[in-house]
Amino acid sequence: SSTATVIDGKAIAGTIRAEIKSKVDDLKRRTGRVPGLAVVIVGERKDSQTYVRMKRKACEEVGIASFHCELPGTATEEEILKTVRRFNADANVHGILVQLPLPKGVNEERVLAEISIEKDVDGFHPENIGKLAMKGHEPLFVPCTPKGCIELLKRSGVELSGKNAVVVGRSNIVGMPAAMLLMKENCTVTVVHSKTKDPKRVCREADVIVAACGSAEMVKKDWVKKGAVIIDVGTNGVDDKTKKAGYRLVGDVDYAEVRKVASAITPVPGGVGPMTICMLLSNTLDSGARALEK
Ligand code: NDP
Repeated sequence: SSTATVIDGKAIAGTIRAEIKSKVDDLKRRTGRVPGLAVVIVGERKDSQTYVRMKRKACEEVGIASFHCELPGTATEEEILKTVRRFNADANVHGILVQLPLPKGVNEERVLAEISIEKDVDGFHPENIGKLAMKGHEPLFVPCTPKGCIELLKRSGVELSGKNAVVVGRSNIVGMPAAMLLMKENCTVTVVHSKTKDPKRVCREADVIVAACGSAEMVKKDWVKKGAVIIDVGTNGVDDKTKKAGYRLVGDVDYAEVRKVASAITPVPGGVGPMTICMLLSNTLDSGARALEK
């Protein structure tokens, strides 16, 4: 029996980063300036600090300027809003990212809505989400993780038009925008969520599955039609005593089994993960180019 082609997100992300770097260099040559990304982090969560460090390093590598504001976990909503406004007004900043989650008691939606839509590189502003959902409109920015999923499909030569796509999950940051994007690519899209009666039956109809339910290895071999393409967004830590860290990462798809029936599949780690930061760089470059080439 055959096994699926592994979609190498790390390699594809490397190619895209090189493309971004050359576009940043070109912009600098023509305008004397570079795109800038501001990252706002509130509090001391270790995972958030790790993500922010990775984002800053990724910016550096492609020549995007990075700005940083670290507020204590005790910061008030008003202080966070003030920081966002300061970056909104800063002409060297073309993208603003507020690392989530914010501390309890802070209204995340209000903070995200304060980001100038021209600088909303995470694509979470309601106006950008609204345009993503509307026929005949294009958002200024598309959320990074679902954008990365589409990019993986396209760069792997997967034909999308007319195909049945099933998205497992409907969160604002992954599932819902992934479904919108697949619809824009002319897929027939079905969304599975926690109230779906028979997710297995729905998934079996899919030519393309995007799994983003945050439930370890939920999508099984008998959920997948032979030859389907699988994009696994999930990152779940499961106990593993053989690993130094005491755990390992698995996706929302039962990789070892599903790869026996799929035609192509993303691994975890090394699939969607590396694409997310890459799309943040891409959004920041686009924003910088829009502003600097005016
Ligand atoms: P959320 O928890 O916000 O959303 C999960 C979604 O899956 C919900 O819509 C939920 O349905 C649905 N769901 C949960 N359990 C089931 C079930 N048993 N059957 C059917 N549907 C179910 O997660 P996120 O969207 O934020 O993230 C999804 C996964 O992707 C996580 O593993 C996360 O770690 C990972 N992730 C990875 C990123 C990357 O860069 N690689 C970036 C972001 C996330 P309902 O709406 O009904 O509750």
